[in-house]
Amino acid sequence: MANLLIKNCIVIPMEKNLHEPGERYFVGEIAVAGNRIVHVGPVGTVPRDFKAERVLDAAGKVALPGLVNAHTHAAMTLLRSYADDLPLMQWLETRIWPLEAKLTPEDVYWGTKLSILEMLKAGVTTFADMYFFMDQVAQAVQESGMRASLSRGIVGGDRGLQALEESEALAEKWHGFEDGRITVMLGPHAPYTCPPDFLRTVIGKAKELELGIHIHLAETADEVETIKSRYGKRPVELMEEIGLFEVPVLAAHCVYLEPHEIKILSDYKVKAVHNPESNMKLASGIAPVPEMLEAGVTVALGTDGAASNNNLDLFGEMRAAALLHKVNKLDSTVLNSYQALQMATKAGAQALGLTDVGILKAGYKADIILLDFEKPHLYPRHDVVAHLVYAMQASDVDTVMVDGRILVENGQVLTLDEQEIYQKIRECSQRLTS
Ligand SMILES: [Zn+2]
Repeated sequence: MANLLIKNCIVIPMEKNLHEPGERYFVGEIAVAGNRIVHVGPVGTVPRDFKAERVLDAAGKVALPGLVNAHTHAAMTLLRSYADDLPLMQWLETRIWPLEAKLTPEDVYWGTKLSILEMLKAGVTTFADMYFFMDQVAQAVQESGMRASLSRGIVGGDRGLQALEESEALAEKWHGFEDGRITVMLGPHAPYTCPPDFLRTVIGKAKELELGIHIHLAETADEVETIKSRYGKRPVELMEEIGLFEVPVLAAHCVYLEPHEIKILSDYKVKAVHNPESNMKLASGIAPVPEMLEAGVTVALGTDGAASNNNLDLFGEMRAAALLHKVNKLDSTVLNSYQALQMATKAGAQALGLTDVGILKAGYKADIILLDFEKPHLYPRHDVVAHLVYAMQASDVDTVMVDGRILVENGQVLTLDEQEIYQKIRECSQRLTS
């Protein structure tokens, strides 16, 4: 990969914490060598010995770390708008699960490719996925050049151990692939689908393989009641008791938490993923995000699958998060635009265990997006960060770089054949619904 200099753009490094003094953005330049950022600074500060083989003049654009979609089920793009406006269990039992039972490995491959196409065009450079036929998912990620953390979804019962074996095979083949562009976590689905003994086996395997765990946790009031009636404890209490939090955990949803459970998540450094649009659409509830942030919990942002959202647009998700908590608390200061942006970048990377992703800083991986600010809805420029959360559209994404490689240029994805993907999706969806 060539040495690249991006110059004259507004740079938002996302390195500063919320209350750190100083400017959050400046007009500057970013130098990239191979798959790493080697310099970020104001205009004219790039070291003299840096020889750029390519210069991108990004005047009128904003440079931001690539967005991290920290919880999704990528291939569920195939189910987009197949079932909406239904109660959760009816939605799952009569629509989603019967269609998912028909999915083939090839369907999952093309469904994932569609989601990667959508995410890349919307500035998402990394996603955390939980689904099945994960070898096909990994293949789609590999071909696209995107970054991902992959988990084979595991449900306890007859086929639980087999799914765990598949997870181990997935990790052997893909964990750490291409300097860590693809990583693997174990994916026990949820406390109500994985009994404690089975979860202990999964935790043991995670320790043995030194992998994290991606799980749905405390998503609905029903889940809390089910777990309480079965085990006499709330989900987070039960997970603490069986030792889940002894390994790195990516916990999706975290809607139903008592104050002492927020403390448990904070004490064990559990990473929470907020999915506001999914929680609203399925009428699950409102996660206590301001309380979690106050307690020092790392909170990332996710779209969840396209059947419960129905898009994979993290700009929309940031806006939903910022607005939802304001109206919930009747307090417009409760979650500000910089916090929402942190959730979608730096916190997302931390949640996935990526220690050199999520910030624009020398030494970090070159996952960079350039946003076209020459748009009517982005003038004037009183506050660029607020624009990103309250006014930006996914279609404003101009350039996307992952691991030092440009994957999107002028809004076009270079590594995927858009028309081929649409054709395959038409074929898959026709067969699935016939
Ligand atoms: Zn989910």
